Amino acid sequence: MLVTKHTLAASSPHATPYYIVRGMMPGPVMFITSGVHGNETASMAAAQKLANDCMAGRRHVVRGLLIIVPRVNQKAYRNNRRGKPDLNRTFPRHISGKAKHPLASAVFQLASQHGPDWWLDLHEANGLSQRSSRVLGQTLITNPGSRAVPVCRRVIARMNRSIAIRDRHFNLKQHELPGSARTAAARLLHSRSVTVETCWSLKRSVRIRYQTEIVHHFLREAGLF
Ligand SMILES: [Zn+2]
Repeated sequence: MLVTKHTLAASSPHATPYYIVRGMMPGPVMFITSGVHGNETASMAAAQKLANDCMAGRRHVVRGLLIIVPRVNQKAYRNNRRGKPDLNRTFPRHISGKAKHPLASAVFQLASQHGPDWWLDLHEANGLSQRSSRVLGQTLITNPGSRAVPVCRRVIARMNRSIAIRDRHFNLKQHELPGSARTAAARLLHSRSVTVETCWSLKRSVRIRYQTEIVHHFLREAGLF
């Protein structure tokens, strides 16, 4: 396994580190982003921990390629803000379309270079989906009819078996969101793309654990771990 650290949007105010983890055997490509919204800190912590664990050899990608951008929106993160404009509405909407923000453009270009089979975009949201179907906290979201749906269902089943408090159970949502990383990845790169949303009123350590476990389930399902 070979891990290298790079800078995205270098020499711009949006410069942010990313990591490429290469397994010894060829295999699928997984792209992981977090911090598209700068105040969703548990998802960023989970992605950074995964990168650190790979760097330190505590986690091993057996096959394929894993690319991690743990803190996409550095400026929003520094201000502890979601970010304005909402970066997750600025990704390209059509094959010939362009991203409406230089940072979304840089992220999307990096992804395009590697043609990800999978794109996990880690977020946090309000509420518990088990209590109300109107909220996004504790959900996995795909585009309607995505090829990721069966895997999402298996990951949710595994997560929920390990979560004793039923209110915290995860649910699947299928939703098209033009301008989001998820929908851009599905439409334009034909990736299996999934948005992961933990509920940010839960304890931070619990959210980081959920994010970490979900990512590990996907890495195993995709065959990288
Ligand atoms: Zn978000």
